[in-house]
Amino acid sequence: MDFEKKPMLDPRGAVPGGTVNPIRRSAAPDHEPDRLVSAGRLEDEDVLELKLRPRRLSEFVGQTKAKEQLKIALEAARSRGEALDHVLLFGPPGLGKTTLATIIANELEVGFQQTSGPALQVQGDMAAILTNLKHRQVLFLDEIHRLQPVMEEKLYTALEDYQLDIMIGTGPSARTHVMRIDPFTFVAATTRPGLLSSPLRSRFGILLRLEFYTDDELRWVVERSAEVLNVPIDRDGAAEIAMRSRGTPRIANRLLRRVRDYAEVRASGKIDRPTAVAALEMLEVDAHGFDELDRRLLRTIIEKYDGGPVGLNTLAAALAEEQDALEEVYEPFLIQIGFLDRTPRGRVATRLAYQHLGIEMPRKPTLFG
Ligand code: ADP
Repeated sequence: MDFEKKPMLDPRGAVPGGTVNPIRRSAAPDHEPDRLVSAGRLEDEDVLELKLRPRRLSEFVGQTKAKEQLKIALEAARSRGEALDHVLLFGPPGLGKTTLATIIANELEVGFQQTSGPALQVQGDMAAILTNLKHRQVLFLDEIHRLQPVMEEKLYTALEDYQLDIMIGTGPSARTHVMRIDPFTFVAATTRPGLLSSPLRSRFGILLRLEFYTDDELRWVVERSAEVLNVPIDRDGAAEIAMRSRGTPRIANRLLRRVRDYAEVRASGKIDRPTAVAALEMLEVDAHGFDELDRRLLRTIIEKYDGGPVGLNTLAAALAEEQDALEEVYEPFLIQIGFLDRTPRGRVATRLAYQHLGIEMPRKPTLFG
């Protein structure tokens, strides 16, 4: 059996029996080249993120609907003394999926183990992780849409009957061995729920969609993080950072750290509105939280493709960006705030995009010319 020889650890940092090793997560595929307002995790951000991560549901700002649903399910599982139903968390990157997964384990006071779809390459790795789980523990699988189909099928019986069929040997002497797994809670996260097969989706009893945060909610995130990091900030300073954070706590925390540096070097150290504005302008993050890439994306659609529609692959080629990154990381926020439309024929820049870039929108021809 090859699983005995393979490493049991997720290269992104899962440690059997519990915690996450943050250092080892830096090779994660969702790391991107340095883009200040990217919702994806950047290199070397893991340790800081860990520090700022809320540990309890009561510290988790916003996401009222998801939190309410989760609170009830946690309460019910606790009072029955059973493992919580399996949970699927979905939504754009940086909105708190990993954080919620760790909170679920904390609230249930059980161990937490983390792995990811792309990290699970060998069936033996999955078998090793599953058979090592303790009673009612949480297993978190990030990027489940990138799980290989053969792994997915193995998961089905594990999730449903808490058992795993393992082939021992090869050829005519091969036999199947059924291994029991302790009841556990599977928490999976995805930015692309549409890519999950329906048998997989049906294994989850609790589906939680995470939404972009409002400016007020993000201001609370910034104020909380400032307190943890011991950064003096006033309400207006926090509001300014929040407004430019694209509805995403990960970006809010990142901007806070950069603004703190600026405040320490160029100002008194305290973050107020003028300091935040000056710092963010220097960093070229505009009032909508757009950076050069957003502007280039909108400008390309408008100037090269007459405002669209333009197909995703054409757009990706014109911008020299990966299609997946465009779709998962850059576009959701532009769509959310109404600058971009995703139509069956391709991407279309909206009136707001023209206005933002100061470009006049061509009139649509009418029946009468
Ligand atoms: P995802 O897994 O969806 O990409 P994470 O859970 O890793 O996002 O969140 C990124 C960072 O944002 C975390 O380090 C955490 O500090 C912060 N964060 C996310 N959601 C919240 C929230 N609701 N309240 C406070 N901080 C949050």
